[in-house]
Amino acid sequence: MAEAMNPVEALERIADLLQRVRNSRQKAQAFRRAADAIRDKSIDELNDLVARRHLTDLPGIGKSTAAVITQALAGETPEYLRDLGESEGPATDRSDEVRKHLRGDLHLHSDWSDGGSTIEAMVEAAIELGHEYLALTDHSPYVRVAHGLDAKRLSEQLDVVAEINERVAPFRLLAGMEVDILTDGSLDMEDELLDRLDVVVGSVHSKLAMDSQPMTDRLIAALANPHVDILGHCTGRLIVGRGRAESTFDAPIVFTAAAHFDKAVEMNARPERLDPPMRLMPMLIESGAKVSIDSDAHATWQLAWQPNSCHRAAEAGVPVERIVNSWPVEELLAWTGSHGATAGTG
Ligand SMILES: [Zn+2]
Ligand SMILES: [Zn+2]
Repeated sequence: MAEAMNPVEALERIADLLQRVRNSRQKAQAFRRAADAIRDKSIDELNDLVARRHLTDLPGIGKSTAAVITQALAGETPEYLRDLGESEGPATDRSDEVRKHLRGDLHLHSDWSDGGSTIEAMVEAAIELGHEYLALTDHSPYVRVAHGLDAKRLSEQLDVVAEINERVAPFRLLAGMEVDILTDGSLDMEDELLDRLDVVVGSVHSKLAMDSQPMTDRLIAALANPHVDILGHCTGRLIVGRGRAESTFDAPIVFTAAAHFDKAVEMNARPERLDPPMRLMPMLIESGAKVSIDSDAHATWQLAWQPNSCHRAAEAGVPVERIVNSWPVEELLAWTGSHGATAGTG
């Protein structure tokens, strides 16, 4: 028998490819659950289970995952892994080229809005990932289903953020918000509160299908707003399940506006978003606009999604110095602060 491939590794590799290349989160989770189910078993134990055809008795192991384990133990490249590889070309993952430069994440949610983890847990997970800073960007009130924060709750959250910072220094938890860009391009939060934030992500969550011209105007108005630092998931597309079409707008003009106002366009790393599409990346790079590579995590483990966009940034050739979350926190804050400072002059 050939030397056995580690079955846990095989399952995790498949999960990784399913999530990043195929955007299939549910399937990926099934393979991760299977990896967890056999993690503590020795190769002998697994071989024994295979021989007795009892692998599928383990919780989380089904027909396809059992086949992967069996083939890996037999020293073969599992068919499932080969299929993914063959259909997607060689498994090149260039995420490290960009990931190694990142110091933080500027778009994520806690259980104050629609996230599943506490602010503290998100911070701990970020520290574990090696981040130096996070911007907490819970939703603004317009997104009712997401328990968006009104001015009063945002103000309360700012106190909590300050209190957490005292405990986690030198790590920095930046105060922020993912503010809705309303149909006329205005923002869903009062200026006085936006003034107190370190980082503001402006995103469209409503009327995504409006005509190209008003959508272009809407995005440019938001980018011109001195409070906005980053344009979140610009096309709003969803590429998993039933999906959602991209919003249409004049991308070169919107990206050029971002460059003009010295703002960043987000590369959103959520597997169902991966926004902007690769097709738009040459225009984004050409415009000179800055880029923010964000997980948009709604739970601690999703902070690890950032490499999805790192890979895409490397493939597209985004200059690393333009990626705002590769900068030290002081530099980042000087940049976001400069937007507010020019409010009266621009
Ligand atoms: Zn959003
Ligand atoms: Zn978000």
